[in-house]
Amino acid sequence: MTATDTFKAFCPNCEAITEQEFIQAEEYILVDSKLISVHLRYYICLECGEDYEIPSEDYDPLAELYQKLGLKTREDRKAFFETHRLAFNIRQMKDYEKS
Ligand SMILES: [Zn+2]
Repeated sequence: MTATDTFKAFCPNCEAITEQEFIQAEEYILVDSKLISVHLRYYICLECGEDYEIPSEDYDPLAELYQKLGLKTREDRKAFFETHRLAFNIRQMKDYEKS
């Protein structure tokens, strides 16, 4: 399920105001051969095609994942990422999918 919306905003890559798309999507992360769904929100610049995360302190795209896996503390999460070698952000996650 994907909802989109275009608007004008500053793109750090183009260093200009460009047309951008706000993406909300369900994506899946493979954890121990089990697919965990996470709800992602990010922007895509329609000029250069770069995507980047919403710069927000209280937004963590993986918060939902942590919750589903019952990872409550920083230590739990750190141990989890060390074990599973998962990425901490969307870009790393996408690179991970490609490799
Ligand atoms: Zn751009």
